[in-house]
Parts: sequence; structure tokens; C-alpha cells
Amino acid sequence: MASGAAIRGSRVGAGPLGESERGQSIQKKRVSYWCADGHESRVAFAFDVEVEAIPESWDCPKCGLPAGQNKENPPIAPKNEPYKTHLAYVKERRSESESAIILHKALATLKDEMGE
Ligand SMILES: [Zn+2]
Repeated sequence: MASGAAIRGSRVGAGPLGESERGQSIQKKRVSYWCADGHESRVAFAFDVEVEAIPESWDCPKCGLPAGQNKENPPIAPKNEPYKTHLAYVKERRSESESAIILHKALATLKDEMGE
């Protein structure tokens, strides 16, 4: 009966520490992608990921351009129209002076409604 305490105290096994060490030792498959601006993005995949599951291109997190695995031949950046704000579209349709007149009329109408 006296040996019971000794057995409990000498318990050997995988504790929380051992498990975390095991987690850190899992290898990752790192794939580098390069964008047209020369940024390198290293993306970590699970070590046992299927090669087919690794995307051929990756959006560069620095500039948003598509990045490919071939450093010497990165994907060509798509020539998108520059983003236009709603105001830009309005200005395209109307000249600056026209929109000023419209604004002035709108203010005048507003003042009429308010009884000024
Ligand atoms: Zn980039």
C-alpha cells in the first residue's frame, strides 16, 4: 500500500508541454510567389497538401497584384480601369460649372422651402 504514492508521483507521459512541442514540429510547405512589382510572398501550406491544391497564383498582400511562382516571369498585372468614385462619374457627365449651378439651385430651393 505504501508504494501507491510512489507510482502516482512517477507518472510519465505526454503532458501539455510535450503536445505543444509536437505541434510546433509539424512542417509546413512554403511556396514563394512573386508579383510584377517584385514582392515575394511566402505562403505556408500544410506539409502534406496535394500539389494540385497549391494555387498557381496568389494575390500579393503588399500591392494586390497577382503573384506567380516563377520569379522571372510574374503574372502580368491586369490593366484595370482606375477606380472611379461616384463623384468622378458625375464630373464626367457634367462640367464643374454646371454642377455648381445645380448645387446653387438646390440651395435656393432649400432656402425657399425653409422660408428664407
Ligand atoms: Zn506586390
